[in-house]
Amino acid sequence: MAEKLAPREKGFSEWYVDVVLKAKLADYSDVKGCMVIRPNGYALWENMQRVLDRMFKETGHRNAYFPLLIPESFLRKEAEHVEGFAPQLAVVTHAGGKKLEEPYVIRPTSETIINSMFSRWIQSYRDLPMLLNQWANVIRWEMRTRLFLRTTEFLWQEGHTCHETDGEAEAETLRMLEVYRTFAEDYMAMPVLAGRKSESEKFAGAVRTYSIEAMMQDKKALQAGTSHNLGQNFARAFNTAFQGRDGQQHHVWQTSWGVSTRLIGGLILTHSDDAGLVVPPKLAATHVAIVVIGKGEERGPVLERAQAVAADLRRTGLSVLVDDDDTKSPGFKYYEHELTGVCLRMELGPKDLAKDQAVLVRRDDRAKVTVPLDAVVTQAQAMLDAMQASLFARAKQFRTDHTFEVNSMEEMKARADDGFLLAHWCESPACEAQVKEQTSGVTTRNRPFDLPQKPGTCVVCGQPSPGRMVFSKAY
Ligand SMILES: [Zn+2]
Repeated sequence: MAEKLAPREKGFSEWYVDVVLKAKLADYSDVKGCMVIRPNGYALWENMQRVLDRMFKETGHRNAYFPLLIPESFLRKEAEHVEGFAPQLAVVTHAGGKKLEEPYVIRPTSETIINSMFSRWIQSYRDLPMLLNQWANVIRWEMRTRLFLRTTEFLWQEGHTCHETDGEAEAETLRMLEVYRTFAEDYMAMPVLAGRKSESEKFAGAVRTYSIEAMMQDKKALQAGTSHNLGQNFARAFNTAFQGRDGQQHHVWQTSWGVSTRLIGGLILTHSDDAGLVVPPKLAATHVAIVVIGKGEERGPVLERAQAVAADLRRTGLSVLVDDDDTKSPGFKYYEHELTGVCLRMELGPKDLAKDQAVLVRRDDRAKVTVPLDAVVTQAQAMLDAMQASLFARAKQFRTDHTFEVNSMEEMKARADDGFLLAHWCESPACEAQVKEQTSGVTTRNRPFDLPQKPGTCVVCGQPSPGRMVFSKAY
């Protein structure tokens, strides 16, 4: 039997790395800070991509692709943008055996190069809105990296849109945040708080940044997606302008929004357990593993029936693995399928076959049922639906149990590691910095739309606060 995982109790970070490595989701590479996404991990990304891509298209966006390299001068055109990204840039200075006249930056995000094209493609209000998305890799040089959660190179999608008015850009920013919220909650079964980021936590170059924030099992926050209203900042820098309905020239109003392979880290940290990966059925790579039990002559009829059941399950759209490897014991196979996050296990042996039944076991709560073979398809579907709902409910209850109102700096310090802290804050960056320093790392997450805003006084300085903000330690 393979070596057991490090339990969460003993060390959450060690457990996380263990799940990623042993479930073969990703591995360290020889390039510092860059990971290799292995087939088990890439299958999750493909499933996420498929759902998100459909949601983007349903909201009117089309995919395009822009170069990996960006002329360095482009980044300097938007002052806040270059200042924000400068420390994380990787720069290409030589190519084709020669020093380049102008170095290229490897994209950390693509607002600048995309704007250089928008400024050519957009002339009139008739060209608007322009709604693009790009699936790509980006590089941000990180000092400390963690598999999936923070890597130097990562995969993501970046949406970039142009609009006639500020109002339309704001509506788009919020619409895409809502797409992310829906994806996180309905597919990842990961409850999130959608809301606005503070000034100091916003995207470099944006007017306003909104985020979805999830609580992981160690009570830390994970910023799972962001949507930015860019105003006219990049449009001015690149002169992305159009002739309006009034015959005058105007700069376009823009948005950008993105989620990345970090979501896979979020998925693991929300649902997985000491036996390994737990994946919500809507994103799972394998829904059912049928473990064929029996030796010698008994095996043939069992395998035959297992394949017939698998075919029936596949017809309903499920991904099914028939595990007929007779070199491994059933116990070893159960362990493997639990480790890699198969949602349901079906055990089928000669005795089951004689009684025309099979055993189904759910990955998350290990609920075990014996069902007639002709009811397996209906039962499997019901168990998967129940699992999807139960993972979300459990994660939401966990967040509720670890969310507290705090009313003083003392309470904030005492509860620094307890979860989401709802506190009054005057919106000054100085008070935000004070909290971070005095609590060794608690930061503002966002001002959630769903949290009724009542005025109060800042927990740091006592000045008026417009309402409670979510504070937490974060990934
Ligand atoms: Zn204050």
